[in-house]
Amino acid sequence: MVYKSLIELISLKGRKALITGAAMGIGKAIAFRFAEAGADLELVDINYEKLLEVKEQLSKYGVEVNIHRVDLGNKAEIDALWNKVGDIDILVNNAGIYVFRDTLEIDEDFLEKVMQVNLYSVLWMCQHMIRRRLDKGGVIINVASIEAIMPFAKNLVHYDMSKIGVIGLTRTLAREYGGRGFRINALVPGGIETEGVKKLRKKAVMGLRIDMIKTAYDFKTRLPLGRFGEPDEVARVALFLASDLSTYITGALIPVDGGFLSS
Ligand code: NAD
Repeated sequence: MVYKSLIELISLKGRKALITGAAMGIGKAIAFRFAEAGADLELVDINYEKLLEVKEQLSKYGVEVNIHRVDLGNKAEIDALWNKVGDIDILVNNAGIYVFRDTLEIDEDFLEKVMQVNLYSVLWMCQHMIRRRLDKGGVIINVASIEAIMPFAKNLVHYDMSKIGVIGLTRTLAREYGGRGFRINALVPGGIETEGVKKLRKKAVMGLRIDMIKTAYDFKTRLPLGRFGEPDEVARVALFLASDLSTYITGALIPVDGGFLSS
């Protein structure tokens, strides 16, 4: 193997990355780090206005940025997206919804929606990427959650089901397509201060949801690092997984959780 410098190893110049859920939170942070590393970007989200803002903010990096409004809960929209984008070297399946609902109040429509966005879309996206690059491989990063491994919050059984599915499909595809040159890994974030999490916290405080406030407090107390993480702390690990720094890592679950799963 040719010995490369650190600068060469971390560079994504000449590569194109597709990132879902890129309008906010972890996905947006990943878009920034990838752009800084020189990747051209295809950014996907259901929120087009926020995507426009992200595109504008990324202009300082001088990379190509295309944005796409896609509802990942709709397979036809995913298929249409792949007809529009060119060759993709790196796929990050980050978009996800975490809506709390009592297990006894889950109905078919609700479960279907969560599964479509959080799990089925990941399979459809991987299928498109793998089909297209069977002869040359590529990198896929799927975003799971600590909740799937160590359930902590109440009223998230549907979310945990979807995210454990993401872990299952990541490991299976890594095994099936490693020989074709694919590296497929799962990031397992813990409590990360994103728009989504801030909204939930506000909802809990405004609604005087003592149960949710207590869960958040207990969660934080349990963290060895004693604090929530920042989106960029996840993005940096995504960059490592996307780059040639990690050429011998596949089928792995990488927690970015301030030590939560260890404590
Ligand atoms: P967020 O809510 O801040 O952002 C999610 C993005 O996904 C938004 O821009 C949203 O518009 C987009 N999105 C939602 N539904 C979509 C759909 N149907 N089609 C297209 N785009 C859609 O979320 P986040 O906190 O940045 O989380 C990102 C990922 O990380 C999610 O998969 C989440 O489950 C996972 N995660 C987050 C945390 C955390 O603490 N923030 C912890 C564990 C796992």
